[in-house]
Amino acid sequence: MSRRDQIAAGLGRVRGRIAAACAAAGRPADDVRLVVVTKFFPASDVRLLAELGVTDIGENRHQEAEAKAAECAELDITWHFIGVLQKNKAAAVARYADVVESVDRPELLPRLARGAGESGRPVDVLLQVSLDPPGRESRAGVQPDRLLELAAAADQVAELRMRGLMAVAPLGEDPSEAFARLARIRADFLLAHPGATVLSAGMSGDLEAAVSAGATHVRVGTAVLGSRPEVQ
Ligand SMILES: *Cc1c(COP(=O)(O)O)cnc(C)c1O
Repeated sequence: MSRRDQIAAGLGRVRGRIAAACAAAGRPADDVRLVVVTKFFPASDVRLLAELGVTDIGENRHQEAEAKAAECAELDITWHFIGVLQKNKAAAVARYADVVESVDRPELLPRLARGAGESGRPVDVLLQVSLDPPGRESRAGVQPDRLLELAAAADQVAELRMRGLMAVAPLGEDPSEAFARLARIRADFLLAHPGATVLSAGMSGDLEAAVSAGATHVRVGTAVLGSRPEVQ
């Protein structure tokens, strides 16, 4: 089987799962956008994905993302940065990413604004919300009780367009429960920011639960591309 056939088969399965999850949730099939996560996979896979109709690519490590976006510059792709954002890398990320999904603290905002300004176009941002139970040390994401404060700060930045929220279900918990919390957080958030309707949630293992909780974007790697190589 060629790599193209492999990827086409994975894509077919994932698109089928998304369509079934939308149907089960009573949502139109085109309600949910697929972001294929290509971390650890080569730019040649991004090319095959683009040929197969994928428009949105996600990456989580700055150096790899920057190189791949440059290698694929002629493709019509929306690049999503979904990884932990280091303060000193944020401006560089905003120069090639079309959507920065992992904004979780105010100090990132002026740096993202600088990168967006330097590249002469606005950058979409999502605010990453922590779904970890309170008290547990969270790896990434703003605590829900600080979300509105972060959103207000993001709203002030002319170079950034705040589009909505992103979250990752914590390990060791039923994702449906975590995404139910997310749906409540989002409902409150939308009262204050009715235009910020994007919800990026759900990965290979839990996309159905995310779609049922209202996700508008799912970020899927393994189920499309296979297991990631251990080392690059
Ligand atoms: C890697 C990654 C994904 C994709 O995970 P899979 O289980 O391979 O589908 C989604 N979201 C984030 C933030 C990731 O880092």
